Amino acid sequence: MKTLQTGISNARHVTNYSFGSGNLKILNDLLKTRRLESNSSVVFFIDHFFENEGNLVERLSVESEDLLIFIDTTNEPTTEGIDQQVEHVRQRLDNIPCALVGIGGGATLDTAKAVANLLTNGGKAEQYQGWDLVKQPGVYKIAVPTISGTGAEATRTCVMTNKRTGLKLGMNSDFTVYDQVILDPDLTTTVPRDQYFWTGMDAYIHCIESLAGHYRNAIGDAFSRQTLALCREVFLSEDMQSAQNREKLMVASYLGGCAIASSYVGVVHPFSAGLSVVLGAHHCVANCITMRSMQEFYPEPYEEFWQMVDRQQVQIPEGICRGLREDQYDLLYDSTVVHEKPLTNALGEEFKTKLTPTTVRSTYELM
Ligand code: NAD
Ligand code: ZN
Repeated sequence: MKTLQTGISNARHVTNYSFGSGNLKILNDLLKTRRLESNSSVVFFIDHFFENEGNLVERLSVESEDLLIFIDTTNEPTTEGIDQQVEHVRQRLDNIPCALVGIGGGATLDTAKAVANLLTNGGKAEQYQGWDLVKQPGVYKIAVPTISGTGAEATRTCVMTNKRTGLKLGMNSDFTVYDQVILDPDLTTTVPRDQYFWTGMDAYIHCIESLAGHYRNAIGDAFSRQTLALCREVFLSEDMQSAQNREKLMVASYLGGCAIASSYVGVVHPFSAGLSVVLGAHHCVANCITMRSMQEFYPEPYEEFWQMVDRQQVQIPEGICRGLREDQYDLLYDSTVVHEKPLTNALGEEFKTKLTPTTVRSTYELM
């Protein structure tokens, strides 16, 4: 297979990261330093799960002028929802906050990233969907992941759906990368089993797609291989949620995020995006559903994936495309083949000769 240049030569990483059980405690000290420097407030975006569960909020030093915003992650972030959050923060605070903290999964971490960019750049979220459209550094931001897999804590994007245009695309920018990441595997103890698997598999799937692609570079490959090694240890073991495995998966998620920064995904993500845009399926479960029809494209990972599902006894929804209308299949086709870069990565420049409306439809029918 001919290797193509990724065109990615200068990758931004998270400035600081800190890892360890119980590590959430360093957040308060980090914020203290920020507060002293600028004398302004902190905005916390926290997954709604923690509003009434556990003692996470009690462990944060929230001051009276700070904003504590719980993010309803029932639906994935939209550009409109992000604009509303920005407006809310602007109305409640006189100054730019000294820090934004995102505590949650990919949806919450992406919300904090997008709001941080908009507070300093102005305008609407949809204006920045694309590559390198953000002009100013965003507000200083800290990520505290509470579920592992998407790598959102490490990447230079924040995925948002634009309901008006149907576009699901993030603000791909060096300014979107977190300044600080706090990795504390204790925070993932409460994740429900199926969700833990679906989200964890995002890291696995990104990396099998990258390593099977045409666009390659040595650094992306190295991150991907190590991510896969950790995912195998976790998902082929007896108990994917043991303390040790939650720690490993948190590292896999972070490294998987670094891998995407210097590589591209393949066939799974475009099909999964179709399920999200047309049928509203969440990203990570949609990836797993897509794996039902990936035997032809990724034969070995396909076998391994289903072996992991078996080992962990988790549920992957089935029959999502049963009874769909013609117009829905048309939309699924359009929202799959629009992802030219990943599809070229996987299938070459003539990918549309392989992905015709008929083959795309039969791929969806297998799900
Ligand atoms: P999520 O943020 O969508 O949350 C999934 C579910 O897990 C929610 O119900 C949430 O309440 C729950 N949850 C989170 N932490 C929990 C905990 N500790 N205990 C119990 N429940 C918990 O999760 P996700 O799968 O990490 O993220 C998916 C999102 O990430 C999508 O919006 C996707 O587009 C985005 N994404 C972003 C990137 C990126 O690079 N920025 C990459 C891939 C995916
Ligand atoms: Zn993904």
